[in-house]
Amino acid sequence: MKIFYNCAHCGAAIDVIEVDQVDEVKFGFDCLTAEERQDIIKVNVKENTMHVHSLCDKCIEALGFHEKKSDQQINFLH
Ligand SMILES: [Zn+2]
Repeated sequence: MKIFYNCAHCGAAIDVIEVDQVDEVKFGFDCLTAEERQDIIKVNVKENTMHVHSLCDKCIEALGFHEKKSDQQINFLH
């Protein structure tokens, strides 16, 4: 399965990785609530792809997520 990471803030493509199996713990998906998962992760079964909304380094810095923990923090999905 191909996993596309896009910045939820500016839309920039962050990373594309290919995995045989999605390890939810490794990707930090198990830390998300069901609601967050629906919001952040979009799975396309037909195309065998997964789209994950994350944050690029620029936006993490701009939003101050590296200093301050926030309820909306999603940058742990790297
Ligand atoms: Zn960004």
